[in-house]
Amino acid sequence: MTAERTPDPIRKVVIVGGGTAGWMAAAALSRLTAGDVSVTLVESEEIGTVGVGEATIPPLLDFNNALGIDQLEFIRETQATFKLGIEFVNWARQGDRYIHPFGVYGRDSNGVKFHQIWLKDRQGEGFAGEPGAIGEYCLSVVAARDNRFTWPTSNPGAVLSTLRYAFHFDASLYARYLRGYAEEGGVKRVEGRIEQVEQDPRTGFITAVRLNDGRLVSGELFVDCSGFRSLLLGQTLGIPYRSWQHWLPCDRAIAAPCASAAELTPYTRATAGSAGWRWRIPLQHRTGNGHVFSSAHIDEARALDELLSGLDGAPVAEPRTLRFEAGRRERPWEKNCVAIGLSAGFIEPLESTSIHLIQSGIFKLMGLFPDRGFDPSEIEQYNSLLVDEYERIRDFIILHYAATERDDSDFWNYCRTMEIPDTLAQKLELWAGKARLFRTPLDLFTDDSWIAVLLGQRKFPRSHDPLADAFDPVQSRQFIASIRDVIEKTALAMPRHQDFIARHCAAPQQ
Ligand SMILES: Cc1cc2nc3c(=O)[nH]c(=O)nc-3n(C[C@H](O)[C@H](O)[C@H](O)COP(=O)(O)OP(=O)(O)OC[C@H]3O[C@@H](n4cnc5c(N)ncnc54)[C@H](O)[C@@H]3O)c2cc1C
Repeated sequence: MTAERTPDPIRKVVIVGGGTAGWMAAAALSRLTAGDVSVTLVESEEIGTVGVGEATIPPLLDFNNALGIDQLEFIRETQATFKLGIEFVNWARQGDRYIHPFGVYGRDSNGVKFHQIWLKDRQGEGFAGEPGAIGEYCLSVVAARDNRFTWPTSNPGAVLSTLRYAFHFDASLYARYLRGYAEEGGVKRVEGRIEQVEQDPRTGFITAVRLNDGRLVSGELFVDCSGFRSLLLGQTLGIPYRSWQHWLPCDRAIAAPCASAAELTPYTRATAGSAGWRWRIPLQHRTGNGHVFSSAHIDEARALDELLSGLDGAPVAEPRTLRFEAGRRERPWEKNCVAIGLSAGFIEPLESTSIHLIQSGIFKLMGLFPDRGFDPSEIEQYNSLLVDEYERIRDFIILHYAATERDDSDFWNYCRTMEIPDTLAQKLELWAGKARLFRTPLDLFTDDSWIAVLLGQRKFPRSHDPLADAFDPVQSRQFIASIRDVIEKTALAMPRHQDFIARHCAAPQQ
């Protein structure tokens, strides 16, 4: 039996915006719809893009693979380096340091999780806790500390198969690269500023966007990638913004790239300051830096001083300030408009999740690609999946602020004592007893990510899983030591990150 074609297929998609979100959507639509649909992207050079966003997480590899992008070419074109995790400095207490790695801790044994066996061993000695100590049992942490990188192996028995990585890259170059890809795939680019959005008076569906020179670009499905403006979903369809500023008070960022001065590190650094935090992201041609802060707690001049005083090299561009408010639109898909990227919501870049949320929105849109009937149950499904994902990520980011002991500024006093979402409070309660964590398929962050941040920020549990008590203490100590030994040796045999890039994927000098 052959499946019948859907009676009202979408033939014309219009993407509004040519930032990372717009070009990722255009590239995916150009390939995954196999040429059945005409895709037009409207962007305005005069308005420009947000132009920051340099750190990613491992699922980006799936996006690039789905598009058939050659990894080494992509690295060279975007001045990328490898990322094994994020080093957090000064978060629970000044002087603390831990790495939140991609990858896993140790190896489970007889159905008992590694962190439980490790905790039991440590608690037996009256373990008071040491942030980041569990990192010795994760290859990504040990390799990151030692500035090493190599490809993971696919042999599941080898410790090298546990290495996971993502990239630091120049987001503007990535958008440019994807533009080439999308245009080759048939996407039509229209340059111009949208001045008006036309709607069907009966249904409220968007029918076209009108440009400043009077041109009309019409479509059946509109993808709103217009950035913080949220031109279609927010401004035209009036979908309200739900603010999370009371949990995530940072509302400004100053970005100031500088010359690379040191060896390329295979990790992002996030250093907590007096009223926010600073990022350091090493790219091949420069180092990205920025200060994310709460304008209610520090003024811009001081925030800039804090940023500039910590740079590794000379600034290579004028510092640029961006304003934002953490939160999300109530519904990312309304009528015939799907918002992807900053137009749908924003969670600050502490765990590099924005580009991932773009990718997730695109994959879900492809999975629920509508016809002109716009089935409400499909729209509902999309909205509930996306909202759930935003909120789970939000809780993980709030954890970094709430799990602090710092009392050296009004900002940290606020974060330490603020009320947190019930969903996060429940998770912390479960952890506080026997270090239990339960991941659902909808969670982006794995148990190992939660373990990294919880232990790294001194949320030490009172006890451990009673099943870990069944292990003979001497044997479990040997088991733990053997894992550390293999990890140390494997890391030492890896090439240095900088040498690996030079050998396999150095970008042309600029
Ligand atoms: C300080 C900061 C740091 C960040 N760091 C990271 C990070 O490390 N990792 C990460 O994953 N993400 C990060 N992000 C998020 C990331 O930058 C964005 O998710 C990403 O760039 C996508 O932006 P966008 O395409 O949605 O919006 P934009 O880049 O703002 O693009 C909007 C597009 O819409 C167009 N447009 C708007 N209005 C009109 C109009 N009227 N007519 C025509 N065109 C119009 C603009 O011209 C532009 O092309 C960061 C964000 C900020 C603010």
